[in-house]
Amino acid sequence: AKSDGRGIVRVYDQEMDEAMQARRSLQAALRQAITRGELSVAYQPIVNLTSQHIIGAEALVRWRHPEHGFIPPAQFIPLAEECGLIEKIGTFVLRTACAEAASWPGDTSIAINLSPQQSNDTQLVHIIADILATTELPPDRLELEIVETTMLETGSPTEDVLWQLHRQGVKIVLDDFGTGYSSLSYLRRFPFSKVKIDRSFVCDLGYEKADSSIILAIIGIAETMNMQVTAEGVETQTQANLLRAYGCPQAQGFLFHEPMEGTELAKLLTAQQAG
Ligand code: C2E
Ligand code: CA
Ligand code: CA
Ligand code: CA
Repeated sequence: AKSDGRGIVRVYDQEMDEAMQARRSLQAALRQAITRGELSVAYQPIVNLTSQHIIGAEALVRWRHPEHGFIPPAQFIPLAEECGLIEKIGTFVLRTACAEAASWPGDTSIAINLSPQQSNDTQLVHIIADILATTELPPDRLELEIVETTMLETGSPTEDVLWQLHRQGVKIVLDDFGTGYSSLSYLRRFPFSKVKIDRSFVCDLGYEKADSSIILAIIGIAETMNMQVTAEGVETQTQANLLRAYGCPQAQGFLFHEPMEGTELAKLLTAQQAG
């Protein structure tokens, strides 16, 4: 029955409509998720590659939808960025994770992902100062992870915001390094303490020669510029061994630990402290 062009167009329109409606209803649900307590934060340990000791953790937001169950952040973070909900969610993650990390033993660091809208807003400096004051988390234990796309907007307040946070003693981390299209000069313009080698470079380690040279180059640049390095997405012993041989000091990935609840990580840290 849908043999003519108009029919096909109509079906296509209907599919677009349905996709748009699904998005809108998910956004509406997300709007209520915070107040209904459906959001939580998981923590994935970051280890010293030599000792395998936990030196920090990355906060990863989780949303348990009452009907659909867990919805991955890769799905709802872009939605939140699109409809102006990201500031609220971002502040929730900052507050929750800093409060959690303040109770951890030693100088275990907490890394928190920032969306471009957050670092683009000068209010962020005050929000973070307030959170650090109320949680009593030392500023140098807080790491803020930003992606390269964040830096591309010229004339945006991001650069100023990141320098102000840096002067407060907070660490700035370049996430997913090597996947964006930024120039190396950004490494000097922004106050980075650390770069994270993207999972895509780690996953073929041992098979693809090209990836080894990129990883070696990143480690070399970071060393020269006095920045720390973490390799992400380490899943196999082969990858860990190669990274260690290349001089990569830190790693994060399922081989070591999956994201876990705050209470579980606190137990691991206490045991590590005692051992
Ligand atoms: P990301 O910042 O690159 O975070 C690392 C992601 O890799 C996490 O996925 C983590 O669970 C996953 N991962 C860790 N180790 C491994 C591994 O060995 N193998 C594989 N295949 N994956 C691994 P997750 O939690 O689904 O988060 C996805 C992305 O969502 C994050 O990527 C980040 O961009 C974003 N995101 C998560 N939480 C937040 C948040 O609180 N705020 C913002 N703005 N973005 C967030
Ligand atoms: Ca990250
Ligand atoms: Ca990453
Ligand atoms: Ca990523």
